[in-house]
Amino acid sequence: MSHTIDNPTLVLNCGSSSIKYALISEDNQTRITGLAENLGLDTARIKHTDLDGEKQEINIAGGSHKLALQKILALLEKYKPIAVGHRVVHGGREFSEAVKVTPHVLEEVKRLKVLAPLHNPANALGIEAVNAIYPDLPQVVVFDTAFHQTMPPVAYRYAIPKALYDEEKVRRYGFHGTSHAYVSDRASTLTSATGKHGWLTAHLGNGCSAAAIYDGKSLDTSMGITPLEGLMMGTRSGDVDPGLHIHLKRTLDMSLEEIDTMLNKQSGLLGVSGLSNDMRTIEQAANEGNADAKLALEMFCYRAGKYLASLSCALPEFTGIVFTGGIGENSDLIRRNILEVMRHFNIKIDNDKNAALIRGNEGSFHHADSQLELWVIPTDEEFRIAQETREALGMAD
Ligand code: ADP
Repeated sequence: MSHTIDNPTLVLNCGSSSIKYALISEDNQTRITGLAENLGLDTARIKHTDLDGEKQEINIAGGSHKLALQKILALLEKYKPIAVGHRVVHGGREFSEAVKVTPHVLEEVKRLKVLAPLHNPANALGIEAVNAIYPDLPQVVVFDTAFHQTMPPVAYRYAIPKALYDEEKVRRYGFHGTSHAYVSDRASTLTSATGKHGWLTAHLGNGCSAAAIYDGKSLDTSMGITPLEGLMMGTRSGDVDPGLHIHLKRTLDMSLEEIDTMLNKQSGLLGVSGLSNDMRTIEQAANEGNADAKLALEMFCYRAGKYLASLSCALPEFTGIVFTGGIGENSDLIRRNILEVMRHFNIKIDNDKNAALIRGNEGSFHHADSQLELWVIPTDEEFRIAQETREALGMAD
């Protein structure tokens, strides 16, 4: 194995108590990854795997984002990163592409915490910490919302008073942008279909979203002003009647905060099954005859299929469907069940190919006479962020 990593970009995903990192070579052939977790707690630690495969766990009890980043940058210093790309959750209406960090951009990331209260402040902490340690290292922010900024108003506006859009930026933004961008791009490279391509992409992980992408541009997506709208997810409800809030207030005197927590953390697969947010556990329990797990699984697939069918309305032409995320990449059962919901689209699945597409395999699984192409494409958000970082800095080929 090689012990160098050429012109690497460091990709950082700073959460409220964790930092995921990946150092990626320019040709995307070599990668070092790691995770700092439990930040701020006694159990704070960094799990690092070096280029030669050697694993280490570094105890940083009580360590902050800054301390963790000091250690991470020290571990990576010898590989001489040329730039840092940060995944930032919300770019609001202001950002439709990746941008180089300037004092103004940093202020905007902080100001947009009104739209992402948990995430944007952690992202800003990461930018400041790198700045304090390596002030000369160029940094770029890559927004989860940016790819969806090409949506037309008919898709992004809510049917509520105009002033809320004009003055408060209340609109649909969409998330998982780097993942939808990566897998649709890849599908367009892999397909033999000529002309412009129209894809529906289904990112099914703990968080789940779908997007309609035509000629490389997002035209609609299932998530909204927050990542709660749309599909049923691991612990998130997805769409509910907005009247549910007032109903729960009236009948149970629940506060808005309690309802928000319930819809984000106690719903979805976990809420319906009463068992778990993990699809593997749900599939196993459903197999063993657990009725609640069976319903959770059926609801997940029905709602995903229904959403994909409705998103097809956004596409001028419909080339095919791309599955990604932990569930989309691994579960042939879920893929088949979702496609069975879309029974009027003349989709023909090659069952053997579908069954073989697990554990990071990339490929198609449609029959030659299927009206739509079907693809599994493992997402690679880190690679996409590294690529956009180099582009934003004018370092791309
Ligand atoms: P995140 O959204 O946190 O990045 P992932 O994309 O890793 O999450 O997806 C996590 C989900 O993928 C979990 O629900 C997990 O059960 C599911 N998953 C992983 N492997 C399989 C599998 N073999 N079969 C079904 N579901 C799987």
